[in-house]
Amino acid sequence: MSRERRELKQVSPEKPFGMYCCGPTVYGPAHIGNFRTFLLQDVLRRTLEVDGIKVRHVRNITDVDDKTIRRSQEEGKTLAEFTAAWTKKFHDDCAALNMLPPQVEPSAVEHIPLQIAMIEQLVARGNAYVAPDGSVYFKVSSDPHYGKLARLDRDALRTQSTNSNGDANVADEYTRDNVSDFALWKARKPEDGPNFWQSPWGEGRPGWHIECSAMSTHYLGETFDLHGGGIDLCFPHHENEIAQAECSCGHHDTFAQHWFHSAHLMVDGAKMSKSLGNLYTLADLEGKGFSPMAVRYALISGHYRSQLNFTLKSLDDATAALEKIEKAARKLLDKAGITPEEFSQDITVHEQNTAWGAFEPAWTALCDDLNIPGAIGKIFSAFAELNKTELSQADAGTQLCGLAKILSALGIRLFTKQEAAPADIPAEIVALGEQRWAAKQARNWAEADALRNKLAELGWKSLDRKDGYSLEKI
Ligand SMILES: [Zn+2]
Repeated sequence: MSRERRELKQVSPEKPFGMYCCGPTVYGPAHIGNFRTFLLQDVLRRTLEVDGIKVRHVRNITDVDDKTIRRSQEEGKTLAEFTAAWTKKFHDDCAALNMLPPQVEPSAVEHIPLQIAMIEQLVARGNAYVAPDGSVYFKVSSDPHYGKLARLDRDALRTQSTNSNGDANVADEYTRDNVSDFALWKARKPEDGPNFWQSPWGEGRPGWHIECSAMSTHYLGETFDLHGGGIDLCFPHHENEIAQAECSCGHHDTFAQHWFHSAHLMVDGAKMSKSLGNLYTLADLEGKGFSPMAVRYALISGHYRSQLNFTLKSLDDATAALEKIEKAARKLLDKAGITPEEFSQDITVHEQNTAWGAFEPAWTALCDDLNIPGAIGKIFSAFAELNKTELSQADAGTQLCGLAKILSALGIRLFTKQEAAPADIPAEIVALGEQRWAAKQARNWAEADALRNKLAELGWKSLDRKDGYSLEKI
């Protein structure tokens, strides 16, 4: 909001740090542009937690809007079953990318009364009006503060009740030059099918913007610490969130105290778009043989305020960088007499230890405006320095603690590919499992299937995950 770097202060230090992030619209798989934003939010949250700050992370699920309704109907499914399936897919991808689940993940459909209550407040305060068809619109001209986040020029702003065609604006989005009153409540239309709810203004459904104002303030209070989203949401979505939330309570500058916008992701130097075929999903990249951890590494490796250009080469680089970190970590583990399996990357194991060792500069970089590329660079400098130093077993243990903390802040897990075989699995089965996994990684499906059948004949099956597998008796 201030366009300045400021200390990230909590509104109420005795309460958890309240962080609201605009979540996915669940009508298809999320693409890497969506995930870059969610991953950067995850790193911010982890960094706060590693610093000892409790965080209350709220991220909504948009499960009713024009797209979810249209697609569910095209597939002949109810809105609920359609969005539940895509919500599950989103959760699976988030878990594969090692993202911490938010403490609260409210669904728009489950909070319709809350949204209606906020719209009623806006109507009562004169910030909204009911159109003849029963839709309710926010009256932009009623809010003298409208445009403060996006820095719209108030004097040049021609706020209008209709869009440029002279019609009421039913679309949820518009440009800075075409600001118009926007829908809080959309009257029921035939194409909505069975997807409508009762309201004081008749049957209909909420507009898109209102859910975030209603749910963020409901779960975090009228004033909370930070609001996040992709830069494309800054206007009009976040501007509208502020207007709805602050006008409904009649106080100004009470909504989110910090805004965390992440810059666009470019792919091969171009904007992501369906027509260019560069809207990669996690499944697309896994199909090309990349691990979710490499995808995570590549997507977080640019500064959040700079555009990141994603290429398949950047995934190769990420894979190589992760291997380099694992190799260096293995050296430290050897010195400390700890196996990779014993190396705890769970931050709670290390939180008592305040020492950062050689990884202190990496932590300092991360705490400076979440400089992730700087922190990653300092991790490699730390390894180079440690390589030149004679370390005792105890020293190596301390350094590993610093490493575990910085990797935990970044959400990077090492050694995810190695899966320790439990001692009670016969060596022959372990070997078959390994061969099958290797064949699958090489996309040699015929061989992978043959090995699976062989395992089954011997009474074993392989449970595959995104980043590895385990063997189980049938
Ligand atoms: Zn939102």
